[in-house]
Amino acid sequence: RLYNEVIELKGNIRVFCRCRPLKQDEVANGSTSIVDFESSQENELQIISSDSSRKQFKFDYVFKPEDNQEAVLVQTLPVVTSVLDGYNVCIFAYGQTGTGKTYTMEGTPENRGVNYRTLEELFRLSNERSSIMRYELFVSMLEVYNEKIRDLLVENSDEPAKKLEIKQSAEGTQEVPGLVEARVHGTDEVWGLLTLGGRARSVGSTNANELSSRSHCLLRVTVVGENLINGNKTKSHLWLVDLAGSERVGKILAEGDRLKESQFINKSLSALGDVISALASKTSHVPYRNSKLTHMLQSSLGGDCKTLMFVQISPNVADLGETLCSLNFASRVR
Ligand code: ADP
Ligand code: MG
Repeated sequence: RLYNEVIELKGNIRVFCRCRPLKQDEVANGSTSIVDFESSQENELQIISSDSSRKQFKFDYVFKPEDNQEAVLVQTLPVVTSVLDGYNVCIFAYGQTGTGKTYTMEGTPENRGVNYRTLEELFRLSNERSSIMRYELFVSMLEVYNEKIRDLLVENSDEPAKKLEIKQSAEGTQEVPGLVEARVHGTDEVWGLLTLGGRARSVGSTNANELSSRSHCLLRVTVVGENLINGNKTKSHLWLVDLAGSERVGKILAEGDRLKESQFINKSLSALGDVISALASKTSHVPYRNSKLTHMLQSSLGGDCKTLMFVQISPNVADLGETLCSLNFASRVR
């Protein structure tokens, strides 16, 4: 399949849907899947509601529960490797908490996800091209929580957290001055670094899972390339973003800090939806400034940048409402 041609034709925004398997306890409780892939193409799925009415959704690709990390990578690589050609790339995992956003991006030590596998491929390709190009790779990791940016790679976490801000550079790109950029030379360094950053994510929280579902976690890979034949230099970013959970928090249950958090999450996720749908519909005004997340990613969203969104869903009937919300969000950006 001529992937680049497809991107050219359809624009630079792709949306993939990934459905996680039913969990053991869901199966034990007698849950069956409300997602039907049987009658669908590889880019379609149907949701069967309780009255057995069906709703159909189309994506650039749909991953079934049995599709493994390898299958996901095969579809993702053509987008991510264009960072070596000087394109900025953003990949997002969107969805309700518990649908596999972190599984897709981080994965587990046995089933590593997009983040690690992408870096692995970038190293492989840069070695392959070493007679023509010299590449240097840098990794940064940060978290956006309540519209505040926190560096996840600061070595001494006892130090008071540096307050990071977004600044516009002389070239007009958005930068985060002071953010740690760790040079990485090979894959053996990468897993340790990603694990370190992931651990820093939960510091200060009594319940690690809880906090990680309420903050956006961003891995930024910076690629500096030099063409050894003509001396041309490129610098580009690949952003790998594990978004905060998209679930709506009941207004009655949420109060105080929890309410504030959910308002920040709603604001940034809808700002992201607004930006991507403005780009998809080629509207002239793109509202980047409405959240820290979209402002920070401004130079990597739009223009000739490539965007990929994983919409993660659960097959469980109890999650039907949130699943439809996520699928509708996805339809808006496609
Ligand atoms: P989220 O980050 O969206 O809150 P997680 O990535 O933590 O969700 O996934 C919730 C649970 O489901 C984890 O135990 C994870 O390992 C499991 N899981 C998610 N997606 C898959 C998948 N495609 N295959 C197998 N297990 C999965
Ligand atoms: Mg998660």
